[in-house]
Amino acid sequence: MKEIQINWPAGIKRTKQRENVLTILESSDKPLSATEICTQMEKTSDEPVWLSTIYRIMELFVKKGIVIKTNMMSNEMAVYEINQFKHKHYAVCINCHKIITLDNCPMEKFIPKLEDENFHVMGHNLEIFGVCKDCDQH
Ligand SMILES: [Zn+2]
Ligand SMILES: [Zn+2]
Repeated sequence: MKEIQINWPAGIKRTKQRENVLTILESSDKPLSATEICTQMEKTSDEPVWLSTIYRIMELFVKKGIVIKTNMMSNEMAVYEINQFKHKHYAVCINCHKIITLDNCPMEKFIPKLEDENFHVMGHNLEIFGVCKDCDQH
């Protein structure tokens, strides 16, 4: 496993489990669900890893801005990734929940028409879903 590139965030107690979670997210080239993080943690840990623990760690990391949480499938599933301050979108397969990264942002050239002109737009969420190649059986 490669070393954690980011500095340990201030105001967060450094624990082995939290370190492991960050390392797993750092080494992954795609966003991971809490279950996937949990499974990977169990491989390297002698102690049992509880999913509820992972959720608590993720909640903390999201609150501190270290990790980005993306809700998929109308909040049924959430995936996490290290906040690289880059802007990305994903499409998710409604059958197997496979995640496919979008190369572009469809909102890039989109100018929102807001009733309140003084409203400051800071970001957007986009939900793209469909059926992946493996699940497309016809
Ligand atoms: Zn699929
Ligand atoms: Zn976008």
